[in-house]
Amino acid sequence: MLKYIPELTDIVIEEIPHRVTLAVEVTNCRGNCPGCHSPFLRKDIGEELTPLLIDKMFEDNFGVNCFLFLGEGKDGDALFALADHVRSAHQGVETALYTGRESVEPVYWEHFDYIKTGPYVEDLGPLNKRTTNQRLYYHGTDITPVFWRKDE
Ligand code: SF4
Repeated sequence: MLKYIPELTDIVIEEIPHRVTLAVEVTNCRGNCPGCHSPFLRKDIGEELTPLLIDKMFEDNFGVNCFLFLGEGKDGDALFALADHVRSAHQGVETALYTGRESVEPVYWEHFDYIKTGPYVEDLGPLNKRTTNQRLYYHGTDITPVFWRKDE
């Protein structure tokens, strides 16, 4: 089972380049980032995320073309099944995952188009800082530099 915080579900345009993204905050985070920005996401809280709920989100948010799991929780099978549901039930929609881990197993690429890796380290900054330790991959290619301004 994958749990999320319904109240925090949102449309975002900066997290995934050139995509209108529906983002859900997944709980039960396995990470232990120093300076974690959302400690509550490490707790076993929230509601179960189901295919029906995902379908409803798409009904309510016309024009979305990416679905982002902000965290991967503790149930990998449930995570993969939900990502596969997004792709099969919503043609043309891409799937994305933010994991706090340094890397993911190759099987993840069978379920996600975008994967962001790396724990949050306050001193190094987020993806839009050249000093960041985090990376965003598209089908295995590192596209992190698209977040960096040329004049920085
Ligand atoms: S990935 Fe890191 S920053 Fe994000 S909730 Fe988990 S511990 Fe906190």
